[in-house]
Amino acid sequence: MPKLIISSADRVFVLTGAGISAESGIPTFRDAGGLWRNYRIEEVASPLAWRGDPHFVWDFYSMRRKAASAAKPNPGHFALASLEQALHDRFFLCTQNVDNLHELAGSQCVAHMHGELFKSRCDSCSRPPFPDTSIHESQGEIPLCPCGGKIRPHICWFGEVPFHLEQIFAELEVCTVFIAIGTSGSVEPAASFATHVSGRAKTFYVGPEAPANHSSFDDCFLGKAGELLPILFPH
Ligand SMILES: [Zn+2]
Repeated sequence: MPKLIISSADRVFVLTGAGISAESGIPTFRDAGGLWRNYRIEEVASPLAWRGDPHFVWDFYSMRRKAASAAKPNPGHFALASLEQALHDRFFLCTQNVDNLHELAGSQCVAHMHGELFKSRCDSCSRPPFPDTSIHESQGEIPLCPCGGKIRPHICWFGEVPFHLEQIFAELEVCTVFIAIGTSGSVEPAASFATHVSGRAKTFYVGPEAPANHSSFDDCFLGKAGELLPILFPH
């Protein structure tokens, strides 16, 4: 098994996707055929659904909070936390995942481009997102902000702009090693990151199967992140 050699001059950008969480038992949308209670995910995770029926939306995110709170980080998450510790500010972790498994493994700095399952925010005012593990199911009260707005999950829904894009693209500009882990390579804008850096940075993929955009990578390491990452980044 080859190792990923990272020199003292390298800056590493890591992108993680649903695959690394799935290894910890968090089901991906697509595993379930993209359906929840026979609704397409796009019909639940959207501003339109929220405006039409916030109880329905909170039912879904309450279920996801419960599923995620039962999950534990796997050796892939721990390997990335160690890599951050070794490289400090020459390491940037961007995730498409909304769970907190990277943080539970010890990662200090994580850019959650699609939001965070255990945070909520007001749907009306600019009060910043706050930590929130509450469950709101079955027609319970929708929590309200002091401004009168409704408290919603801090999630980037379909049709909304991902978070931290400015910082993410600034880090893509300066990275010399780009590693995508467990992403399908089909969700934009993340699917274009490898193409964005190719020619300037070495690009690697780690995951159980080749992603849709596999031709954008210099090398693909096929297998579970939890098995490959501790070998690729031994400490
Ligand atoms: Zn408010």
